[in-house]
Order: sequence, then structure tokens, then C-alpha cells
Amino acid sequence: MGGYCYGEAEPAEECGLCGGDAYAEFCDVGVGMVQISPYHCGDCGSSLSPLLPDGSYANGWVPPPTASERGARVTGYYITHVGHVIEMTFDEGHLEFDQRTGHTTSGRLYQGWVRITNLEGFAIDLPPAMSLKTRRSLAKIVKDIDTTQNWGVAYVMQSGSDRGQEMTRAQIMSVASRLPTEIPTTERVHAVETPPFKPF
Ligand SMILES: [Zn+2]
Repeated sequence: MGGYCYGEAEPAEECGLCGGDAYAEFCDVGVGMVQISPYHCGDCGSSLSPLLPDGSYANGWVPPPTASERGARVTGYYITHVGHVIEMTFDEGHLEFDQRTGHTTSGRLYQGWVRITNLEGFAIDLPPAMSLKTRRSLAKIVKDIDTTQNWGVAYVMQSGSDRGQEMTRAQIMSVASRLPTEIPTTERVHAVETPPFKPF
């Protein structure tokens, strides 16, 4: 828990799971502002070190219950640049998520996110570069889709290509394993303003 002085800007944190802006609640205690709630990410709903039912504080960023844990039908996923999986449902698809968070899908891909959808067919959009954590989460998700859900063969779009191709799980992971693991920071900043790819 922290605080800030009068006249200072309210502090924000970068969400460790999706990179979104996270804010806490502060209370005026007469000599300054004192933090009274954990930082909460407006993009993915995660909290930083929230209080647990047993009275202790969690270590690091804790995501909210997932859509499938709430019993909702999952129709897609975003995998963030740090490998955090955000489930999409009919109620909140990628478009709504992008609009709520002020990003475009192509911008997200350029930041190293993966998009998986199953609306008019099973489709995967791969980023130009992918962290090892993101690759591990992708392997887990496509294995889960392959073994427990009947989504068929994935239509995979690779970054920089205007045509996709159907791929098996092994082919998807082979392509993913050949992607660079680090996106240069300058490109990441550049990508937010002018995504070099056509929007979907
Ligand atoms: Zn977040």
C-alpha cells in the first residue's frame, strides 16, 4: 500500500498480465493521499496483491474468475505478451474487448498477443514475435481445444501474410517455435500508434 502527496498526479501501474493501465483508490487523510484498495486493471480485471479470504495478501497480479469458471461458453481467447489467457465469450468478443481497452486487434498482435476465435470457424492469428510464456500458453490452449473441444482444423494467419492456411496443432506449434521471442521496444511503441497491418 502506498500513497501520494497533494498536487501530484494519481499514480498508475502497468498490469502485469495484459499491460493495461491499473488504478487504485486513494483516500485523503489530511496530510496526503493514502491507498485504500489494490491496483485494479481496467482492461482484464486483474488486481495487484489483493487481500485473500485467509487474511493474507496475494503475491503479484491475480486475475478475476475466468468466463469458463463462471459457466459462460468460451468462443475465443486472447493470449497476452506475458502468456496470460483472456477468455472471450459471445457477450464479450474481441471487438468489444478492443473497444473497451482502446486497442486494435492488429495493434495487440504487434505487441505479441495471439488471437484465437471460433465464431465462423476456428481461426488463429499469430503475432510477428512471441514470448516463451505466450508460446507455452498457446501450446496448452491448442492442446486443450484439440483434445476436449470439437473446433476442427485451425485457419492460421501469420503476421505479414494476407492469406491464411489450415494447420494441425503440430504445424501451429512448429510455426510458433520459429518466431522471434522478443519484440524490439521501439517497434512496440510505434505499433500502438500506427499498426503496420490491415485491420481485420
Ligand atoms: Zn490487465
